Amino acid sequence: MKPSRFTYHAPTDLDEVLALLAQYGDEAKILAGGQSLMPMLNFRLLAPAHLIDINRVSELRNYFLDDSGLNVLALVRHRELETSPEVELAFPILHEGLANIAHVQIRNRGTVCGSLAHADSAAELPSIMVALDARMNVRSQSSQRSVRAEEFFRFHLTSDLDASELLVSVDIPAMRTGTVGVFDEITRRKGDFALVGAAVVGTWDSDGRIQDCRIVCSGVAPTPLRLTEAEQFVSGTDLSEEVLVGVQQLVMESLEPTEDIHTSAEYRKKVTGVIIRRGLARLIDQRRDIHV
Ligand SMILES: Cc1cc2nc3c(=O)[nH]c(=O)nc-3n(C[C@H](O)[C@H](O)[C@H](O)COP(=O)(O)OP(=O)(O)OC[C@H]3O[C@@H](n4cnc5c(N)ncnc54)[C@H](O)[C@@H]3O)c2cc1C
Repeated sequence: MKPSRFTYHAPTDLDEVLALLAQYGDEAKILAGGQSLMPMLNFRLLAPAHLIDINRVSELRNYFLDDSGLNVLALVRHRELETSPEVELAFPILHEGLANIAHVQIRNRGTVCGSLAHADSAAELPSIMVALDARMNVRSQSSQRSVRAEEFFRFHLTSDLDASELLVSVDIPAMRTGTVGVFDEITRRKGDFALVGAAVVGTWDSDGRIQDCRIVCSGVAPTPLRLTEAEQFVSGTDLSEEVLVGVQQLVMESLEPTEDIHTSAEYRKKVTGVIIRRGLARLIDQRRDIHV
């Protein structure tokens, strides 16, 4: 199928984008990488009267990495961050998550902010942003605000953005010394959307205990899901084999994942326990590489 008729706008600066959003609001959609939007238009799941293509807005193309963290503007592609050695060094978990998104061709066009605005509950980046306590920088013509990742994702394919707002950038705070993180997922085939995914982050203290653990799953609920009970279970421990077995059991018993055409709730429950245990075990390996 082909999209229904729309008016195409190609603004060249941010003010123009915000003015168009203020003018057309609910009738408009932002076009970034188009990797999710174009299929939805072609299937006529969406039929906006106006399409605002931000690809010519050069001021949105950069990302900035310094001691305080990473700031990623709206037109930075997945692949650009994935192939940056500096980003991989500073945020190995982000590199891992990006490499799991779809296929290279999709990552060449798809944007980080586009993935976040799209808010697919099975996507990698929303869970990673919650695990890293990132902030979304949102602007409209008349206001600007910053939203914690944990409050940004409202439901499957629904974010906190309103129709007149653009996600201008995302801020990811630097991982402090001793902080480690991994991302893992289960897919039927490489490049498919994940059946379940898990971002696991924690900070090793000088006594060899993991603190402030954050465990966030994708694919099990309408938004990224923090497993706070599991976080409390492992925080303050040395992640011994006994703790790992215990947390796997806890997740398998307490999680109530969604069921859909891709797989059963029972399977999701089981493999979520497994990947969380596996992820936590990898935090032990990463500890050996750092000096705390
Ligand atoms: C075959 C296939 C497999 C895929 N597999 C995966 C996968 O495994 N994991 C995964 O995470 N994704 C996957 N995707 C989706 C892909 O990652 C998209 O790139 C991503 O979801 C959206 O980024 P985009 O820049 O292409 O956004 P677009 O498609 O341009 O836009 C997506 C939505 O976000 C809105 N939007 C975009 N940017 C902004 C902004 N800055 N501010 C406000 N609203 C905005 C658009 O209006 C639209 O509603 C897959 C896509 C395909 C086609």
